[in-house]
Amino acid sequence: KLEALVRERTLALEQTNSALAELASKDSLTELPNRRTLDLFVDNTFDKTIHDHEALAIALIDLDHFKSINDTFGHNVGDEVLKGIANILAPLNNAVQVAARYGGEEFAIAKRIAPTSINQSVEADEFTKQLDVIHHAINQLSIASIDDRRLGACIGWTLCKGSDDIVDAFRRADQALYVAKDKGRNLIVPAL
Ligand code: GH3
Ligand code: MG
Ligand code: MG
Repeated sequence: KLEALVRERTLALEQTNSALAELASKDSLTELPNRRTLDLFVDNTFDKTIHDHEALAIALIDLDHFKSINDTFGHNVGDEVLKGIANILAPLNNAVQVAARYGGEEFAIAKRIAPTSINQSVEADEFTKQLDVIHHAINQLSIASIDDRRLGACIGWTLCKGSDDIVDAFRRADQALYVAKDKGRNLIVPAL
């Protein structure tokens, strides 16, 4: 009887733990993976005990003039727009890719890329095509509460070649993002 009770309590604890882990991994507004989840995914990519010499494609996405959405239509409507963007990004999440809310009106995608150089260029090509599709979907998103106003976004992206390169890769992607803003916004800019 005691054993049965212990088993029951253990199961309940395990369920609570996994519910908490799920909560801690997600952004509460959009239910996308959060920044912590993306960072863990990036770190694990180069953990030799789990994987072997993979590369990563990294993209940072920042909505254009988002402040004016908040200012014009209110913060709740701004939240609704962020959820609309999340609906575009959510389906990208799988075993080799995380599409996360990185903070505020900024999102990030990290995709693991196979080791050999031939595959790498093919996969980098696929990654850019995917970014085009996402960018197009953001431009096409129509939300009644912002009077179907068009949304723009800047995307900066790069390839990260290994764990030594992570910090620099994020810096390159961020710089590419700012180049896109500087060039007039609603652009995808690579930093390769
Ligand atoms: P830029 O084109 O240069 O990126 O301009 P921007 O207005 O998008 O950028 P800025 O950094 O000036 O403003 C970002 C705004 O995003 C300001 C902040 O209030 C808003 N924001 C951040 N997080 C949230 C959120 O969770 N909900 C809402 N509604 N707004 C948010
Ligand atoms: Mg921003
Ligand atoms: Mg912005």
